[in-house]
Amino acid sequence: MRSFNGLYFFLSCNLIKEVILVKEKTSHTAAEAKEAQPAAKTSKTVKTAKTTETKRRTSRKGTGSSGRAAGSRRGSTRKPAQGKTQRRTAKPHAHQNHKEEAVVENAVVTAGKEAETRQPRTRGRKSSRPKLRIIPLGGLGEIGKNMTVFEYGDEIVVLDAGLAFPEEDLLGIDIVIPDFTYLIENKEKVKAIVITHGHEDHIGSLSYLLREVNAPVYATKLTIGLIEGKLEEAHIKGDLNVVHPGDEFRIGAFKIGFFHVCHSIPGACGIYFRTPVGTVVHTGDFKFDNNPVDGEPMDIYKIAELGHKGVLALLADSTNATRPGSTPSESVIVDSLHEQVAKARGRIILATFASNVSRIQMAMDAAMAFDRKVCVFGRSMVNVVKIARELGYLKVPDSLLIDPEELSRYSDNRLMILTTGSQGEPMAGLSRMATGSHRQVQIHAGDTVIISASPIPGNEIGVGRTIDALMKLGAHVVSSENAKVHVSGHGAREDLKAMLALVKPKFFIPVHGEYRMLCSHKELAIGLGIPKDHVFVGENGSVFELTNRSCHEAGKVTAGPVYVDGLGVGDVGNIVIRDRQQLSNDGVVIVVIALEKNSNQVAAGPDIVSRGFVYVRDSEDMMSGATDRVEMLLDRMASEGVTEWSQIKTQIRDTLGRYFYEKTKRRPMILPIIQEVR
Ligand SMILES: [Zn+2]
Ligand SMILES: [Zn+2]
Repeated sequence: MRSFNGLYFFLSCNLIKEVILVKEKTSHTAAEAKEAQPAAKTSKTVKTAKTTETKRRTSRKGTGSSGRAAGSRRGSTRKPAQGKTQRRTAKPHAHQNHKEEAVVENAVVTAGKEAETRQPRTRGRKSSRPKLRIIPLGGLGEIGKNMTVFEYGDEIVVLDAGLAFPEEDLLGIDIVIPDFTYLIENKEKVKAIVITHGHEDHIGSLSYLLREVNAPVYATKLTIGLIEGKLEEAHIKGDLNVVHPGDEFRIGAFKIGFFHVCHSIPGACGIYFRTPVGTVVHTGDFKFDNNPVDGEPMDIYKIAELGHKGVLALLADSTNATRPGSTPSESVIVDSLHEQVAKARGRIILATFASNVSRIQMAMDAAMAFDRKVCVFGRSMVNVVKIARELGYLKVPDSLLIDPEELSRYSDNRLMILTTGSQGEPMAGLSRMATGSHRQVQIHAGDTVIISASPIPGNEIGVGRTIDALMKLGAHVVSSENAKVHVSGHGAREDLKAMLALVKPKFFIPVHGEYRMLCSHKELAIGLGIPKDHVFVGENGSVFELTNRSCHEAGKVTAGPVYVDGLGVGDVGNIVIRDRQQLSNDGVVIVVIALEKNSNQVAAGPDIVSRGFVYVRDSEDMMSGATDRVEMLLDRMASEGVTEWSQIKTQIRDTLGRYFYEKTKRRPMILPIIQEVR
């Protein structure tokens, strides 16, 4: 299989060059003109759509998805259809293309120029037709909570519904999801949700979205499996539909296609939308991997074919846009994993992302090769392993896996423990093992801990802390700092260049990355010849309006983070977070006073209680000084005739705030509480 992949990749590369080199006069213009022509064969396309659609459905409520998938009647009569399905494929001439590699980079230049000089066919009647609107609601200026809206006329297709993990200053927040107010306000328009792959930053907010918006979900088998698990947990029923990479189906005015890309989870896809104004490609998360662990090569042919026919806009993963070179194949880890497992004398504890099915496969393969049994810990990892095995994405014999209760039956050198917690998350398996609070696994000398992941920016401190604790317990820790036990799932600059060169988009919108990554991706695209004003670095909520020859930013819609804390979604906002930050920084001081009902005379108090501010027993003088100050203040206000409670509270807050700051240089939260007594 491996060698076959190598060959495939070699051929594909030649094909890429071929496709790019063929400067077909008709390429963009003809393809898009075709897109623009109203086609008579609508019904035929619809039929194709029907057959390729849905193989699996958990349950449905309300409107059926087949009706939707086949195109709302309104959509298919009013809108120009996409013309005949373009099944014609460019034949590779693999032997012709050795000399002109340099031209690869120039190909994009040509595409860009062509785009500029082309005479628009539709001039004069463009206003009569809706524009395509692309609205990223998450994933721009950040890593995580990816979500993009594609809107044409009164139809919306949503791509991905991810979550982000909170940064350290978001105290008490469990997860962060995109603000999809725009979709709630336009819920009637939402015809489908398409998902590129099963990582949390792409599926993690789906259950929240489906509570508000009822639309069928389309994704590949493993992704649907993972989504199913999440929806069950949230007690939500979804209309889930399995798509096979290579499928194309119609949703109203959109013809949607999935093409396989390599990443760190099987079943990852890029998605393209053929729309009345042109084709738009979204890469999803990807890297070019010529030796993928699951044996599924990237569908380079499809990507090249799309580029060949003409792509209006490309949205591409920018995560590693600042990294030079190409991202190594996932399979380079195989050897070093084997090496580590071979060296280990005691137990092996391997931590990685629960969703990195490819990595889990490699770990289990290595365990098998060295006659170790595998025990899986961590709810999310147990779930993923179960689902991935059921669906055939994870190939391991039953005999390899053991339950936690069986651990004691095997000697240390016959065991591998798989766990979550590669990010130093305090509640996850590895961190609990490191702090000695894991119920079943205690780390001891002789253990080898392999952290097969690299910290997501922001998690470095937590990971460092975990490693320190593990080493104190006597474990030998292997991480990407001292061994090749992790590679990124995202393409670096050379991968991104290859994608741009293949797709040759007229317009380019970098997505999935922090601002500097998006900018870096932009520079890279400009370097490849895409005109500066054809590249757009937007932010969450930016509206991009596209016609078949233009793209511009047209305003903004509501976007931003929504915090999820326990059962509360969005009830914790910036004010609550600020309070929590203040509480966590300097604590709280509570001042309780009882005032007589009519006279406003002090009946009891003031009593001052504090938490997290100072150690009261060592600060009695200061606290009694505070009581004196409040008493004096109350006297003064009484003599001045101040009876308004809000005014009294403000004065107490100001007076004590100044007093405590003078004494401690701290700013605790001060809460005056006034009780009324008769
Ligand atoms: Zn991903
Ligand atoms: Zn992602």
